[in-house]
Amino acid sequence: MRYPASCFCGAVAFELTAKPMFVHCCHCTDCQTQTGGAFAINAIIEAKNVRLTRGKPRRVTVKTDSGRPHDIYRCPKCQTALWSDYGRRKVMLFVRVATLKRPHNIKPDVHIFTRSRVPWLPLPKGARAFRVYYDMKKEWPTKSLARRAAVLGKGR
Ligand SMILES: [Zn+2]
Ligand SMILES: [Zn+2]
Repeated sequence: MRYPASCFCGAVAFELTAKPMFVHCCHCTDCQTQTGGAFAINAIIEAKNVRLTRGKPRRVTVKTDSGRPHDIYRCPKCQTALWSDYGRRKVMLFVRVATLKRPHNIKPDVHIFTRSRVPWLPLPKGARAFRVYYDMKKEWPTKSLARRAAVLGKGR
């Protein structure tokens, strides 16, 4: 399974070479400010399954409440955000689903930080929604947990 993606101007292109492990729709105020939208949709995937096909993203580090670095990789030309590396772990990325050529094929598995979601857009019926965060062991499919542990190690 391959998912081609690119920035807005096309200077950076890449593809996901596997299905994402898990997909967040994040309604936190950081995502709202950084995107200028109501939320960010992030596909969580191993870095080794993100293959650059054109250009080289630039790293922009922003601060977080936890104090750990949040690195956003952007197109150096048009500045579109392509993915995030939370905590500079290098092995697991949060790819912006909106950069995929067919973003609508990917549905969020969970909605997080709904305490700050915009009130004028209702969540779909039956959506798994969390005011802040969630228990990964409960929500992630077993296969995805195994993939995550394979790159991060257990207990992280
Ligand atoms: Zn660009
Ligand atoms: Zn967020």
